Amino acid sequence: MKKLMICIGMAAAMVGCAPKEEEPAEQPQPKEEFKYLVDEFADLRIMRYQIPNWDQLTLQQKSYIYYLGEAAKCGRDILADQNCKYNLVVRKTIEAVLNSYQGDRESADFQNFVVYAKRVFFSNGIHHHYAEDKFFPEVSEAYFADLVKGSDASLLPLNEGETVDDFIAFLTPVVFDKELYKVRRSSEDDIIVNSAVNFYEGDIKKAEVEAFYNKMRKPNDATPISYGLNSKLVKENGKIYEDVYKADGLYGEAIQAIIGWLQKANEVAENDSQRNYTQKLIDYYTTGDLKTWNEYNIAWVQDSLSHIDFVNGFIEDYADPMGMKATWEAVVDYKDLEATVRSNTISENAQWFEDHSPVDPRFRKEECKGVSAKSIIVTTLGGDCFPSPPIGINLPNADWIRKDYGSKSVTITNLMEAYDKAADECPRSALKEFAYSQEEVDLCKKYGSDADVVHTNLHECLGHGSGKLLPGTQPGALKEFSSTLEEARADLFGLYFLAEPRMVELGVMPDAEAYKAEYCSYIRNGMMSQLARVELGKDVTEAHMQNRKLVSEWCYEHGKDANVIEKKVENGKTYFIINDFEALRGLFGELLAEIQRIKSEGDYAAGKAIVEKYAVKVDPELHKEVKERYNALGLKPYGGFINPEIVPVMENGQVVDYKVEYPSDFVAQHLKYGKEYSFLKAKH
Ligand SMILES: [Zn+2]
Repeated sequence: MKKLMICIGMAAAMVGCAPKEEEPAEQPQPKEEFKYLVDEFADLRIMRYQIPNWDQLTLQQKSYIYYLGEAAKCGRDILADQNCKYNLVVRKTIEAVLNSYQGDRESADFQNFVVYAKRVFFSNGIHHHYAEDKFFPEVSEAYFADLVKGSDASLLPLNEGETVDDFIAFLTPVVFDKELYKVRRSSEDDIIVNSAVNFYEGDIKKAEVEAFYNKMRKPNDATPISYGLNSKLVKENGKIYEDVYKADGLYGEAIQAIIGWLQKANEVAENDSQRNYTQKLIDYYTTGDLKTWNEYNIAWVQDSLSHIDFVNGFIEDYADPMGMKATWEAVVDYKDLEATVRSNTISENAQWFEDHSPVDPRFRKEECKGVSAKSIIVTTLGGDCFPSPPIGINLPNADWIRKDYGSKSVTITNLMEAYDKAADECPRSALKEFAYSQEEVDLCKKYGSDADVVHTNLHECLGHGSGKLLPGTQPGALKEFSSTLEEARADLFGLYFLAEPRMVELGVMPDAEAYKAEYCSYIRNGMMSQLARVELGKDVTEAHMQNRKLVSEWCYEHGKDANVIEKKVENGKTYFIINDFEALRGLFGELLAEIQRIKSEGDYAAGKAIVEKYAVKVDPELHKEVKERYNALGLKPYGGFINPEIVPVMENGQVVDYKVEYPSDFVAQHLKYGKEYSFLKAKH
C-alpha cells in the first residue's frame, strides 16, 4: 500500500462561500469574533485556523513547537521545484513584482495579476493543486512584460548577464503557452514524457524508469526501502542516475536549513524517544540513505506517548505519475486530548473489526499491531500540506513497516473545525442543493459532522491498516491504480463498519440512525456533487475522487435491480436517493471484499478494469448540470489556510514565552515566507 494522506471528507471539501458583508462601522463590537473565512478568488477560499489550549503548554513545549514550525517552513521551495522545474522562477518573479512594482496597483489588470499570484502561491506552482493542469493569468503577455519591467530588476531571478528583455522572452511561454508544461501529472501515453512534474530530467521514457528500478529491486526482500522516494531520476549523455535529495545533494540548501531547526528542536524535545528518531531523520537528511528513513519511521511510529509530534520529509508519492517519488511536506501538531478518546476506542478494537471484516479470511491480518489513533491540533503546515492540508493523516507509508510496527493515524480537529465554522459563515449550502428531501437535509445536519469524523477515523485508523498481501505479492503490483484502489479500500472499510451496531455499543456513534447521514452524503458526493470540482470535458483523475466515484457507481449499478440507490430527475435536477440502507451496506461489504482480493493478490488486470470502468469517465450531461447548479451557489470548491504565526516573546534578551498571532492576509504571508524561508536558487 502506501500514500495515505489528503483524505478530505465531503463536508469539508464542499463548503465555502463569499465573505459576509462587513458590519457597519459605528456598531459597537464588544468582543472581536474570530473570522475563519478571509479571502476568496478563482475556485479557492482561504481560511484561518485556531490553535486551542496553547496556554496550557509549558515554555519548553512551546519552544519545541516553535523550532519544529520553523523547520516546517524551510522546504517550501523544494515542493515548488518538484512540482515543475520553472515554478521557482515564476514565483520569484511574482514576488519581485508584488514587492517592488512602481506602476498602478489599482487597475483591473493588476488585480487580475494578483489573482494569478495567489493561485501560484496556493498551488505551489503554475498547475492547479488538485486538477493538476496549468492555469493562466487573465492579463495580456504585454501587460505581464510591463509588470516585470516596472519592477526592481535586482529582485528578479536573472541568469548572470541576462537582460530583463531576454528573461521576459524566456518566461512568457512558461506562463502563457497553453501547450508547454500542460499538465503536472499525465495519465496519457508516456506518462513520464507528458508530465511537467520535475521528478525526471532529460529525454527519459516510462520504460526506462521501470527498467532502472526493476533492476534495483530485490525480490523477496521482506524489508525493502522505498525505491526512488527521495531523488530525481536524470538521464545525461545516455546514462541514467538518481540525483538524491540530501544535505550535500539536490535541494541541499533547504535541507540544511531544515536540519538546523531540527537540531535546535532536539535540544528541547520532550523525551529520549523523540530525540532518537529526530536524530535519525537528521541522519537521513544528511545522507539521503533510505535505510535510515526506514529506521526513522520504525522509531517514529512506536512513539505514541509524546504530546507533540511532527511530520517532516519526502512522504507522499501522489504527484509522481509512477507513484514512487515523494513531495516534501511538513506538519507540526500536539494531541487534542478530548477528541482522542473516541478514536482510541476505535483503535483499541482494531482486532475485532479485522476479524469481522467482510473479506476472505485469507486476506485478513491475524494480528493488528499498534494501530494508534489520535486527534491532533496542528500548529504549522508546510510543503505539500500548505496551504491546502489533509484533515487526516496515516503514516508511515511502507507496507511492511505498517504490518510489523503499525501506523499512526490522526484526525486534525482544529482544521475540521475551521472548515465547519467557515461554512457556518455562509448562507448558501451545497447540501440543500444536492440533497433530495428536507428529511435528508435534516438527517445530515443532525449527524453529518459526527458521522463524517467517525468515517474519517475508521478510514485512517483501521481502513488503511487492515488486510494483508498474500506471500509473493509485490507491494507495487497495482502500479498506477494503487492509490485509487487503496483509498477505496480504506473508505469501504469505514463505510461498512459505520453501520455496525457495535459502533453504538462502544459509544462511538450516537445511535443506529447516524450512519445514514454519511451514506447519504457519500453517495451524493460520489455520484454527483464532487463533479463540481472537475473541469467540463475532463475525466476524474485525483485518487480520492476516483475512489469515491468508483465506490458510488459500482454500488449504484450492482444495486440497480433491487433499486437500492434510485436516480430521480425533478425540474431538470438530478438526485440520488438511498432506498435501502441495509442493502447498501451489503454492497459496500461486497466491494470491499473484491478490492481487498485485488490488493492481496496484486491482481493488476482486475484493478485496472474496475478503476477504468467506474472511476474515470464522467457522464457529460450530468457533469454540466452539476457544474451549473454548483456555480449558481457561488461556492468555492477548494479550501486552504493561512498559518498562525508563533512569535517569541522577549524579556531582557531571553525568550520568556511564545504567543500565537493570527494574520489574515494571504499574500502577505507568502511574501514573508518568500523573504525568510527561500533557500533554493531559481534556475533556468
Ligand atoms: Zn486515505
